[in-house]
Amino acid sequence: MSPADAGLAVHWSRIRDRLKLEVGEVEYATWLKQIVLGPLEEDEITLLLPTRFLRDWVRGQYGDRLQQLWMVECAAVRRVELQVQRQPGGASPVVESSRAEEPAVVAEAPAPAPEVRSDLAAPLDPRFTFDSFVVGKPNEFAYACARRVAEKPSSPGFNPLFLYGGVGLGKTHLMHAIGSELLRGGRVSVAYMSAEKFMYRFIAAIRSQSTMEFKEHLRSVDVLMIDDLQFLIGKDNTQEEFFHTFNALVDAGRQIVVSADKSPSDLSGLEDRLRTRLGCGMVADIHATTFELRISILEAKAQASGVAVPTKVMEFLAHKITSNVRELEGALNRLIAHANLFGRPVTLESTQEVLHDILKAHDRRVTIEEIQRKVAEHWNIRLTDMSSARRARAVARPRQVAMYLAKQLTSRSLPEIGRKFGNRDHTTVMHAVSRVAELMTTDAAFAEDVELLRRMLEG
Ligand code: ADP
Ligand code: MG
Repeated sequence: MSPADAGLAVHWSRIRDRLKLEVGEVEYATWLKQIVLGPLEEDEITLLLPTRFLRDWVRGQYGDRLQQLWMVECAAVRRVELQVQRQPGGASPVVESSRAEEPAVVAEAPAPAPEVRSDLAAPLDPRFTFDSFVVGKPNEFAYACARRVAEKPSSPGFNPLFLYGGVGLGKTHLMHAIGSELLRGGRVSVAYMSAEKFMYRFIAAIRSQSTMEFKEHLRSVDVLMIDDLQFLIGKDNTQEEFFHTFNALVDAGRQIVVSADKSPSDLSGLEDRLRTRLGCGMVADIHATTFELRISILEAKAQASGVAVPTKVMEFLAHKITSNVRELEGALNRLIAHANLFGRPVTLESTQEVLHDILKAHDRRVTIEEIQRKVAEHWNIRLTDMSSARRARAVARPRQVAMYLAKQLTSRSLPEIGRKFGNRDHTTVMHAVSRVAELMTTDAAFAEDVELLRRMLEG
């Protein structure tokens, strides 16, 4: 491996780590893990995927992001090319370029609208509009604020607009929606970029001794949006620069929109004066989704896809995938892609099959310790009695229930379970499991207790 290749490999491994964080383990393993680094030619890096389907999917879903990450990570790269590489039985790889047949989304991003500061800002994703944002209790306030800013930027009380919330809940979506709406409406200049990109640009400007230009550019926009501001924690110089830009813009009556994963007051590690100023306008949080919102989002996305998704399937997904909208959307997209690819309808069975790995990852993993704690609490005994030698009924029965639930809810073997209960023998566990099962058929109140515990533990 030449030093240049080694450098590329380092960049690539950092980009992969980054992507994994952004999209989550499951989505990463499903779609991105199989990408193999190809050569860098001039300013174009080639990434290889084993099948056409995967290539098209990766290009559609992650193409822009891959391009951004590469540009941020490695100054030599300006374009990303995705290719299919099959390796039939170990023969020399067959490389099939995507260029000839269709325009490559990644390599040739459409020219941005003239109003967008393309020299500085990232392009806005046309899919992230107000129309495609599904509003519900957890996000209605943030949505209303975003709309308000898009209608009337720089209104007193709404500048800056600070959006915060967990990963994948729609912050970036709302920011892009604000940007698109403003650009549609007329002659404003909008600059949107991640805090990371802001830093990268800033450093690049210092290196090329063009900080003045950088500042002037930034300070000439009507609306500046900086996404994921938490990235600037610990990056003191960049924070300082952002603070000055921020002040200059607000003083000049321009609008600032910022997103972060925490509220200004909780962003410890940001300079106090910056936090104070960030909190001066409108602070809107996006809460975790509710079941109702998840259903509405699935309905909207399924409808837009044109694939019929049964209500039962949507309910199933909304129950199972509660972490964030990005994962929910990822699961639905995979179902839709699968249905389109094989021309088969989406059913509960096909869903379980297609999403097998995702669903497994989302199954709450109950630990034996958790079971012991809950059961002990329920019958008001001491946790230590789960592993003690005491045989009094008041202690022994709950202990048996805990063993029973451990067998039902975890994948631990009988000997493993026995060990967690004060090194008991596996036959003791086996006896407990059958005893509890038997009791449940004869004692309705007892059965109800056990069922209740099971439901609580399953979450
Ligand atoms: P964040 O920036 O908060 O991490 P994103 O804005 O990137 O989250 O959202 C993740 C994905 O979920 C995007 O594809 C986005 O379109 C989608 N999404 C999030 N919230 C909603 C919503 N309320 N309605 C429709 N799509 C949503
Ligand atoms: Mg985001």
